[in-house]
Amino acid sequence: MLKLIIIAVVGYVFYRALKSWMIGTMARPDDLNGRSGTAVDDVLVQDPVCKTYIAQRSAIPLHEGDEVLYFCSEACRERYRREHASEKKS
Ligand SMILES: [Zn+2]
Repeated sequence: MLKLIIIAVVGYVFYRALKSWMIGTMARPDDLNGRSGTAVDDVLVQDPVCKTYIAQRSAIPLHEGDEVLYFCSEACRERYRREHASEKKS
């Protein structure tokens, strides 16, 4: 029985640590409170090229007609542009 309690406690502590670590790296609540930013600051967007999730504010936008696509890097944006340029031509 004691073993079960220890496992539960360790699991809980690990869960809490993991959760705070994830919040710290992804949203940085302290940073958000310091500025008058809106919810846009912690929106995650997906890079359509490499499927990476990035914070919208640190992503590189590309306007495609009405919609805006976000990329993790210039390299991904250029790759997307090249691929779609050839698509449109054919
Ligand atoms: Zn990318």
